[in-house]
Amino acid sequence: MTNVRMDAAEERAILDAVAVWAEKELRPVAKDHDLADEYPTAVVEQMKELGLFGATISPEYGGLGLSAWTYAQIVMKVSSIWMAPCGIFNSHLIMASAIERSGTEAQKREFLPRMATGEFRGSLGLTEPNAGSDLQAIRTVARREGDDYVVNGSKTWITNSLHGHGTLLLVKTDPRAEPRHAGMSLLIAEKGPGFVVAGKLKKMGYRAIDSCELSFQDYRVPARRLLGGVEGKGFAQTAGGLELGRINVAARGVGIGQGALEKALRYAQERSAFGKPIWNHQAIQLKLADMATQLEGARRLIEAAARKYDAGERCDLEAAMAKLAGSEAGANCAQEAMRIFGGYSYSVEYEIERYYRDAMLMCIGEGSNEILRTVIAKQLIARHPI
Ligand SMILES: Cc1cc2nc3c(=O)[nH]c(=O)nc-3n(C[C@H](O)[C@H](O)[C@H](O)COP(=O)(O)OP(=O)(O)OC[C@H]3O[C@@H](n4cnc5c(N)ncnc54)[C@H](O)[C@@H]3O)c2cc1C
Repeated sequence: MTNVRMDAAEERAILDAVAVWAEKELRPVAKDHDLADEYPTAVVEQMKELGLFGATISPEYGGLGLSAWTYAQIVMKVSSIWMAPCGIFNSHLIMASAIERSGTEAQKREFLPRMATGEFRGSLGLTEPNAGSDLQAIRTVARREGDDYVVNGSKTWITNSLHGHGTLLLVKTDPRAEPRHAGMSLLIAEKGPGFVVAGKLKKMGYRAIDSCELSFQDYRVPARRLLGGVEGKGFAQTAGGLELGRINVAARGVGIGQGALEKALRYAQERSAFGKPIWNHQAIQLKLADMATQLEGARRLIEAAARKYDAGERCDLEAAMAKLAGSEAGANCAQEAMRIFGGYSYSVEYEIERYYRDAMLMCIGEGSNEILRTVIAKQLIARHPI
């Protein structure tokens, strides 16, 4: 393992390799996997070979150590073809970055090299049936018993939890703590007895990849797997991963929008109505222009946030703005592309309906856009006090 980070040319070469792979291998299989809701095992193997499971993990631990901006460009490219596979390596990488940022050296050495190769694929176990946006309301409890924590509770919507090998599990180590976040901790939870994947959820979009309900029944985690080795830090550790997570979701939104725009540009030239290709009608031109402009604006916000992140600067405002703009651009462009395709948008043959089904999730995950607007407003006030 080396600790040398890539230069710009090397990062460009990786981007190009991902683009070639996505066009050649991903595009032909996306529709069938999505419609069958079938896990893309071969795609996962190809993503391992490309190094995507180690994309943002430091070379010191066997990863590629890509910058956030290069990573975001990879995510945009993959999502422009099929967004769901990004979910397979993204929550995995958020788990890895939490371990790299907050874990003990022993935790890093134990997990990161295995995560970088994709041998251990992780997930984020935060949401519960009664607690999504309000994570401090979780009820899953980890009670210390000798050298173990004994976990009881349930999680829902945990992506990668059926085919993955473990999850970064948000628990209450002190359910009575006030403020509530002071009693929260993260456990590196590898699958084992008592870690029950209760069922794969049927979804409107983001299909083919597994989002599941989990149940923990006297599930034992060795105490050495408490992230960072100190109780009560879990909420802050979770929040610490939000910037990269939001840049990623923003990139997924822009990727979906870009893919929808590309399909719409083609269709608008192929399809004729009233004696001319439909792009000649001003109503279609307005849509194409607004889509491209909205996407370009969102892309620039992503770049600005990612470059700040790469410079080691705080970018919560920028990442929130990028996520808001990128996800709304994705949802809007997918919807506008549906209109441009007219009745054929409803045919699964044209695949535009998949972009439409996938897009809305970007407005909900990694902080709903309602919550994000409140984050942005609070940051604005904090930065402009009177
Ligand atoms: C396909 C899919 C995959 C997912 N994968 C994962 C995963 O891998 N791991 C994981 O932990 N979770 C995952 N989630 C869960 C996701 O993170 C939550 O759905 C999300 O955080 C929203 O929580 P909620 O659904 O409980 O909505 P709620 O929190 O109940 O919110 C409902 C509505 O109220 C609004 N709202 C709530 N509070 C406020 C407020 N203070 N101000 C303004 N508006 C507010 C919200 O914006 C939303 O419009 C996934 C979800 C889906 C659908």
